[in-house]
Amino acid sequence: MLIPLKQFYCDTCGQIIESPNEGYTEWKREVNLDTNEMTAFCSGFKIIHNKPYSPNPDKGCSQYLHDEIIEGSMSKSLERMLSLGLISLLSFLDDGKSKQRQYNDPEISAREMRDFVAFFSRLIIPYYEEARKYFLKAETELFYRELGGEEIYDPSILEKIVQKFSIR
Ligand SMILES: [Zn+2]
Repeated sequence: MLIPLKQFYCDTCGQIIESPNEGYTEWKREVNLDTNEMTAFCSGFKIIHNKPYSPNPDKGCSQYLHDEIIEGSMSKSLERMLSLGLISLLSFLDDGKSKQRQYNDPEISAREMRDFVAFFSRLIIPYYEEARKYFLKAETELFYRELGGEEIYDPSILEKIVQKFSIR
């Protein structure tokens, strides 16, 4: 079993990030093609190994910043992200700077929003990281129906799923 909110699966190599200091988070920032400036819109959120801890230390596990991972507008250390938690989540939803942003802008597709919510659920909800691997199994073998609503964010249900299916 993973230690909740301390150990994660790397989105690049699939191996376990053993502790927060061995991990990094990264995402893409969309560029406005007219002005060539970076926009506030982020997507493609990943939890990855910090380069020195990658099983492939020459290349690292970063999918977007291939040379050196630095803390900035497209990445943050896993430790920092975990300590910010909800603060970081809220700042991504509305950083207060983009006053002109329209919430009905179609720029966040349902698929990207789902990735974003999954990324933050991994960082702030105990057992989510490991349980999500077993959602399909749990639906078939434990619940006999599709999981949805609050169930997939409820740590007591997630813990039950991990205890039942974790093989580690
Ligand atoms: Zn990795």
